[in-house]
Formats: sequence, structure tokens, C-alpha cells
Amino acid sequence: MDHVLWTFPPNSLHLRPIIMQAIEGIFGELTNPKKVVITTHQKPDGDAMGSSLGLFHILTQLGHQVSVISPTNWASFLNWMPGCKTVIDYEKNKERSDGLINDADWIFCLDFNTLGRTKNMEQPLLAAGGEKILVDHHQQPQTEVFAYGISDTGKSSTAEMIYDFIIASGNGDLITTDAAECIYAGVMTDSGSFRFPSTTANVHKLVAFLKEKGLQHSKVHEAIYDHFSENRLRFIGNVLLNRLQLFYEYNTALIAIPQADLIKYDIKTGDTEGLVNYPLSIEGIKLATIIIDRGEERKCSFRSKGDFDVNTFGRTYFNGGGHFNAAGGQTYQPLEEAVETFIAAMKESKEQLATYKF
Ligand code: 5GP
Ligand code: MN
Repeated sequence: MDHVLWTFPPNSLHLRPIIMQAIEGIFGELTNPKKVVITTHQKPDGDAMGSSLGLFHILTQLGHQVSVISPTNWASFLNWMPGCKTVIDYEKNKERSDGLINDADWIFCLDFNTLGRTKNMEQPLLAAGGEKILVDHHQQPQTEVFAYGISDTGKSSTAEMIYDFIIASGNGDLITTDAAECIYAGVMTDSGSFRFPSTTANVHKLVAFLKEKGLQHSKVHEAIYDHFSENRLRFIGNVLLNRLQLFYEYNTALIAIPQADLIKYDIKTGDTEGLVNYPLSIEGIKLATIIIDRGEERKCSFRSKGDFDVNTFGRTYFNGGGHFNAAGGQTYQPLEEAVETFIAAMKESKEQLATYKF
């Protein structure tokens, strides 16, 4: 808590830390051109990239000098997004990125809430002098590192929060079709195509607003879901046939993928996204997990239905976290040991898993 500023706020008898002021605090400065960096979590998904580029289009029109930096590479199904060609991959452009981070007046941190999720960018971000601004919908934010921000776990996506930010700051007119496509892609992918409970009336109003701005939504669905390789489809067939284990006593499914499968089917970043959801289509399955041997680490994804909290599960057993019904994590154990860890964790969670109620 060293970096928390202590003060006596008005009307308070107690000493309280000043942490992360409301995002409205920057509205007045939005028309004052600045050097801006927008960043997101490693291996950005549709929401991470969509929210970053949605904001990029607005801030650029407001006259800011904006750079979007991704901590790592990303799935090729995101390359169609307007502005994606300008996104800098930190791992490939470390020196240039460090310079931009160092010089930035504002650093927007989107779709993650602990700096560790930016992998090698954590230290440069910590050291940066610019104000860090959080916009995110995950649980347990590291609020003390952000000067301004908004964290709302009730939101479908960070892209929805960027839309809210644009509207609330009076910049709705700046939403071009390019910005609309990015925002829509983020909301659509993170809401499971408008299926998850987080799909509120506000989300549907947002879609109506974007449609009025000229959004062709079917183009976005096609760009994201219909540009994969034959290999990927055959890989999914192999996974469902040979790598899926079911533990009916625990209403649980596990997919463990050895690295050899990734090599055999020439699997690229993003090709495994969404796979974890397949077992949830089996009646009664409450927890679905995938563990992928990526070589340098074993990457885990957790999805649940109803009252099973995978944010806590991922945090407790796999150094991760996320949302109540969708979370991730990683481990450095070999795949077989990671599977054993998972099975032990599942057994410890029997009470929460065995009952199936919605
Ligand atoms: P995915 O399984 O798609 O990688 O992630 C599911 C959700 O959990 C996403 O919202 C993602 O940002 C979050 N998440 C994934 N991995 C981690 C992790 O290691 N730590 C935390 N805190 N969140 C994660
Ligand atoms: Mn998100």
C-alpha cells in the first residue's frame, strides 16, 4: 500500500486512501491533446482488441497522439479490425514501446485490472509517470495503481464500457462505422453473441445505436467466426473425440491438450478460443475446463453455469482469475501434473459442483 496517498476527505472523520478517482475526472481534459498509450492484456481477445481500437478511433479524432500497444501477438481473426494494422506488438518492438509508455501523459488500461496480466509490460507500466486509467469488468482490481478509472463486473464487456465512456463524455458523434465495428466486435464476443446474463437492455440499445451509425453486424460475425483453417476444424474434431474427459459425479468436463496436438494441426494463437465452451452443451455439465500445453506454460480456461464461481477457482488453484462464470489461469506444472491438480481441486469443490441448480 506504499503508493496510496492518504488524506482527510471532506465530511469524513476517518483517514481514507485516495485510490482511483472516477473516470468522469478526465472528461474535461479530453479536448486537450495528449500523448496517449492504450494497452490491454496479453494475447488480446475480441473484447481487448475491440475496446482498445474503439477508443483509439475516438481519441485520435479528438486530436490526441494515440498508440495501441499489445503485450504480445494476437489471433489473426482480429486483423480485420479497422486500425489493427497500427497496433504495436510489445514483444517485437520493445524499445519503441518502452519509449511510448515512458512519454505518455495517459495510459489507458483496458480489459484487465492487474498489471501482471500485461506480462513483460508490467515493469515499464509500473515505472511510467503518466496517469494510468482503468476501464475493466473483471473482479478484484489493483485499484492503487490507477489514477482514474471504472471497474464494473456487471458489464458485458470492456467494449460496452468504452461505449458508455464515449457517450457520457459527449462524444457519441465521433463513433464512425470503423469505431462501431470495433466496439460491436468486443461486445459480441464477450457476451457470447448476446447470450450471457450480462447482456442487458443497455447492450441492446448500444447495438441499436451502432446500427444507426451504419454498422453491418453480419460482416463482423463473419470476419470473426468464418475465417479459420481446415486444420483447426479437424483439430476440434480430434479434441472432442480424444481429449475430452467427463466427471459426471462432479458435473465437470476437462479437456487437456498436449503440445504435440498443437504442432500436428499447426494450431496458431486464437485457434483454441471458444473450445472450452463445447462441453457445456452436455446436459448437466456445470464446470468446463481446458488445459493447453503451450510449451512455456500450461494455459487454463474455466467456464461455468449457474452458481459455480470460476474466478475463485482459477485464483485458488491456477494463479488466475476473471469473472464469476468465465476465468483463466496458468501453471508451470507439466500437463499430467496440471491435470492431477485440477482433479484434486475438483474433488475439493465437490460440494459446490455436485448440486446443480440455476
Ligand atoms: P480465457 O479463458 O478466455 O483466457 O479468459 C476468461 C476470462 O478470464 C477473460 O475475461 C480473461 O481476461 C480472464 N483471465 C484469463 N486468464 C486470467 C488470469 O490468468 N488472471 C486473471 N486475473 N484473469 C484471467
Ligand atoms: Mn472482456
